[in-house]
Amino acid sequence: MFIEGNFRNSSSGETFGSYNPANGELLGEVASGGKDDALAAIDAASRAFKEWASLTVYQRSKFLMEAHRMMMESQEEIAEIMSKEQGKPFRAAMNEVQYGADFLIWFAEEAKRIYGRTVPSSRTDQRFIVLHQPIGVVGAITPWNYPVSMITRKVAPALAAGCTIVVKPAEATPLCAQAVFKIFEKANLPAGVVNLVTADDPQPVGEVFLNDVRVRKITFTGSTKVGKMLAGGSGSQLKRLSLELGGHAPFIVCSDADPVHAAKGLALVKFLNSGQACISPNRIYVHEQQEKTFLEELSSRVSKLKAGPGINKDSKIGPLINEEALEKVDQQVRDAIEKGAEVITGGYRIKDNGLDQGHFYAPTILNKVTPDMTIYREETFGPVAPVITYREGDDLLEMANDTHYGLASYVYTQNLGLAMKLFEGLNFGIVGINDINPTSAAAPFGGNKESGIGREGASEGIHEYLETKLGGFSI
Ligand code: ADP
Repeated sequence: MFIEGNFRNSSSGETFGSYNPANGELLGEVASGGKDDALAAIDAASRAFKEWASLTVYQRSKFLMEAHRMMMESQEEIAEIMSKEQGKPFRAAMNEVQYGADFLIWFAEEAKRIYGRTVPSSRTDQRFIVLHQPIGVVGAITPWNYPVSMITRKVAPALAAGCTIVVKPAEATPLCAQAVFKIFEKANLPAGVVNLVTADDPQPVGEVFLNDVRVRKITFTGSTKVGKMLAGGSGSQLKRLSLELGGHAPFIVCSDADPVHAAKGLALVKFLNSGQACISPNRIYVHEQQEKTFLEELSSRVSKLKAGPGINKDSKIGPLINEEALEKVDQQVRDAIEKGAEVITGGYRIKDNGLDQGHFYAPTILNKVTPDMTIYREETFGPVAPVITYREGDDLLEMANDTHYGLASYVYTQNLGLAMKLFEGLNFGIVGINDINPTSAAAPFGGNKESGIGREGASEGIHEYLETKLGGFSI
């Protein structure tokens, strides 16, 4: 753990192991923090807050720029840890470290644009001034699927805004979190500004975040279930909340779209991180006229994806994070098959070439998926592409919006009017139009409905950590 500027063990002395999902190998032991450690970290963050908040934005920005430089210098080293601990192919891990570092530099710049404003009054003897000030101590809970960038996506705007922070990373990826905090240590951030509490059991730390009045904001990325629990729990103290939760992204191939181009896009985005992404397409709507060409292109691409440990340079599909994740994916596939889905490729756990020691699932395409199947409603978080054929006259917006999630969505069309109609009508926080990567540190990321509250990245991202204060001056 990293508390008040020092790496340390947990107060109980307990540790837990971090394992490679590709082969079960023990990668390292880390401190297992609990209630006392969370309190110590909040003490440190609380003590550091006043001074950090009173630095100029230029001073705060310098620390973030330094952290950015150091993270890029250590890109390969961090990517290697990530590839081993989380499983994604090394190249994807390199991209994630870059994406993670992007937040540090982007918010280093944005800190300088925390502008207030003056508002004209109807009284000649009155002036209004609006200020933005840091909320205070932040409690952050991060997931394992993007174990580096989901930390910087929270820490960078919080620090830029003048907040201090305690991060509790996912229990599957504590070594990635440590690697990020080694960068913060090297960047010489003042003691207590950033703190890390690793924990085998997240609940006691989560409870401290919810119950300690000094924590004024909770920011969370993870499942909708835990997000709802945190939203309920923070109600009694009305803490500010940012939640980035699950998704069930529709991927719509319109009748005018090029099915080969769309299949190429889908093959790239669906199997990224083995489908373990909240913006991964989960319902692929293809017009009946394009079904054949689309599926041919898709299956030819998907059958070439080589599964293996992320650290092997030729691996395109890494393992799933654990046995439970693999079981969930397999159950959804079995349920779909029982209810009439057709397996185009995949549909099984990979056990050959020594992969039986890891959690590998074959990249899978299911055709003839229907709304009664679990996969049509529940997030999969695995390498499975469920295809649904639609006909002329079907209401695409109604079908795509028929979910309690609202994070990402994708549309392929060459028709500008149709693109605009779908862009405006899709009830999702992110819409990719002929674009499979609608994300950037500079762009607001987040979901509607049960996919979350608030946005990360962009100017919206920094305002999640700021209070608005109005001054009325009678003169
Ligand atoms: P996933 O199913 O993807 O692992 P979770 O929502 O369970 O998603 O995990 C995301 C993050 O939430 C992790 O850091 C995890 O430790 C944390 N978490 C899970 N349960 C709780 C809880 N009861 N209180 C606080 N944090 C939790």
